[in-house]
Amino acid sequence: MRYMSTRDVALRISPSQGILQGISQEGGLLVPEQLPHVELDLDRLKDMDYRELALHIMHPFFTDFDREELRDRIHRAYDDKFSHPEIAPLVKVGDQYFLELFHGPTLAFKDMALSILPHLLVGALKHLDMDKQVLILTATSGDTGKAALEGFSNVEKIRIMVFYPQDGVSEIQKRQMITHGSDNSMVVGIHGNFDDAQNGVKELFNNADLRHRLTERNILLSSANSINIGRLVPQIVYYFYGYAQLLKNNEIAKGESINVVVPTGNFGNILAAYYAKGMGLPIHRLICASNENNVLTDFFHTGNYSIKRPFRMTSSPSMDILISSNLERLLFEISGRDDHLIKKLIQQLQSRGEYSIEGEMLKRLEDFYAGFAKEEDVFKEISQLFQRENYLMDPHTAVAYRVYQNYRNSTQDPTKTVIASTASPFKFGRSVCHALGLEQPEDDFALLEVLSKATGLDIPQGIKDLEHRSILHPYTCHKDEMEKMLEDFIREEEGHD
Ligand SMILES: *Cc1c(COP(=O)(O)O)cnc(C)c1O
Repeated sequence: MRYMSTRDVALRISPSQGILQGISQEGGLLVPEQLPHVELDLDRLKDMDYRELALHIMHPFFTDFDREELRDRIHRAYDDKFSHPEIAPLVKVGDQYFLELFHGPTLAFKDMALSILPHLLVGALKHLDMDKQVLILTATSGDTGKAALEGFSNVEKIRIMVFYPQDGVSEIQKRQMITHGSDNSMVVGIHGNFDDAQNGVKELFNNADLRHRLTERNILLSSANSINIGRLVPQIVYYFYGYAQLLKNNEIAKGESINVVVPTGNFGNILAAYYAKGMGLPIHRLICASNENNVLTDFFHTGNYSIKRPFRMTSSPSMDILISSNLERLLFEISGRDDHLIKKLIQQLQSRGEYSIEGEMLKRLEDFYAGFAKEEDVFKEISQLFQRENYLMDPHTAVAYRVYQNYRNSTQDPTKTVIASTASPFKFGRSVCHALGLEQPEDDFALLEVLSKATGLDIPQGIKDLEHRSILHPYTCHKDEMEKMLEDFIREEEGHD
């Protein structure tokens, strides 16, 4: 397997090189030369546990990993860090299915990929025979940050730097990050929103001068963001797993198509579902659910992608995004892999804040349905589903749930449907308390107690512990100071050596 770039189809690099670089040198995203054909013996599929299935799906993407090596790395990633033995259990609620992706150490779906990325990266360094330090740079809308810090914690040869929007993440998300204790990490709050943080990180990656200085110190920049193939590929696995569970539980017949609904921000999770479909998983509709930052909804409806609109802060902060980076990979596929066109569109987005697609390309979006949920409806769904079925959703999952109800009402589509459930409700306790009409004490931990009492659900351990941890990363900066923060971090680290 080789990877090409969305902005240069002539380029070919190995899986290990791709994992290490994160992004292609000219700024494009790496895509598999062709999607591997995975043998879909459904009878075998349904008897595999999560780890076996992960090996089966991931190995064709990472062919320079020896099978046994990959098996070992998968076993180290998906172990008892996950609080559920199935890793990604499928839960039936009414006549819908929630694929719960939040049983990892940080209680959001980012753990599904970020628990394995560090192991892939260490493998990649080995395969390329590189004796370098790697500096992971990451912008987070809240969940990636802590999941990456967990995953990369004290991994040899790796340092990690996380930038988060200071006022754009939940209190719990922020606490998870700024209390993180590992020698190789630094966490910095940016004055701005997620797009500012993400653009800032992109600029650091494109800063040739900085790269040069780092190379001289034997440091390689890499990213843990959702554009890395080492994150994208592991996310394909759970769609197969969800399908296998449906088969196993006799909810569907062999080969029967399903819909998947994905609460979407950076477009990574739903792109993984699109790839799964491309690999032969019987998916009918990919339902792209947005919150009030409904750029994607408008794009799927009109072909016009425009960020010339207000940025809204919602109760689903991990989806408060205007520029969905991974969409570039979908554009690449639906354009018939036209790298010139992709370059042009991305340039237009940068210079004019919008681009449009039309004709054949627009028609190829047919696999998708897109919708968005208003805040008041998100709260309503959380409360109603809890009252009706005793199932508690976090606001991100509730966005997906709401959009699916709209889809079903308007299409009457009877296809069985899996909703990606991306976070624990306790991670966004304040919004969930608000939705349920509960009192909301000022103190976040008292608030979680309220939520726990009212719902009869236990506060997950990973959050409970936070209260007593001290703040280790008090740093904040403006977007144009990020380079300096990075230099400080490296110098400080070198001081330690
Ligand atoms: C990151 C995140 C999303 C959005 O996923 P993308 O892959 O960025 O589209 C949704 N929900 C939660 C809880 C997240 O952390």
